[in-house]
Amino acid sequence: MIATTTILADVASEVGGKTADVHALLPVGADPHGYELTSDDLRRLTRADLLLINGLGLEQNLSGTMKSAGMDLPLVVTSRSIKTRTMKLDDGHGHASSERHVDHAHNHGKSDPHVWFNPNNVLHWVDVIETELVRHDSSHADIYRRNAEVYRDSLRALDRWIRATVSQIPEERRVIVSDHKLFGYFADEYGFKVVGSVVPGFSSLASPSARAVAKLETTIAEAGVRAILVGQTVNPVLAERIAEDTGAEVVRVYTGSLSSPEEPAATYLDYMRYNVRAITRAAQ
Ligand SMILES: [Zn+2]
Repeated sequence: MIATTTILADVASEVGGKTADVHALLPVGADPHGYELTSDDLRRLTRADLLLINGLGLEQNLSGTMKSAGMDLPLVVTSRSIKTRTMKLDDGHGHASSERHVDHAHNHGKSDPHVWFNPNNVLHWVDVIETELVRHDSSHADIYRRNAEVYRDSLRALDRWIRATVSQIPEERRVIVSDHKLFGYFADEYGFKVVGSVVPGFSSLASPSARAVAKLETTIAEAGVRAILVGQTVNPVLAERIAEDTGAEVVRVYTGSLSSPEEPAATYLDYMRYNVRAITRAAQ
């Protein structure tokens, strides 16, 4: 089984345990929004029995490349049952609202794909992965069900830990500015307000106008934002300039990819703890 991002592959390998063979398609440090499949990736996909994707438009180039290569590998959208945040079409500021979508294909680029920033959404991933593993390898169903149950407990413990940790931050400082809009699910769950982003929208591939940058700098000053959260997978240059102009600080976090095993965010649980600690420290 292949999962697109290192984050998704880590969650799948918790459910699969030693019994299922799970690999990440994207390498550590790759930006899932902009990633282009290599010919090596296509070869690996040809040999795979199943491909797990996040969906909601995260893997922007994936299905097009697979289609043009004539591949019809069974593809499982792990975020399919998650209540998604969407960007209103008439709202240039990118405020998002929640609604449940029946057909994600028609909402490409408008749904917020960063569901995993709320561990309660990852519980839904676990349900989908468990169902697929049991379907594909029913002789090990008991093992997959047990692994899934153990991991659900870890996700619930993570949720409790995040609540306790962010409770140290005074309410008026629970504001987030990030490189693109990716903390929406986190903000909704844990009482933060996303006040702006360096590039507009839910993809790191966008770029802002000079007017939008000026507006963001005003927002940062007015809201007293202390940190601009910038993913390890994106270029920090513009964020650094905005930080310099406003006196805020660029804080590097892990966003579209886990870290390498030697670094502090090599599993989804560690990745969330690392990011929440960074957000908490920056706000104090
Ligand atoms: Zn993103």
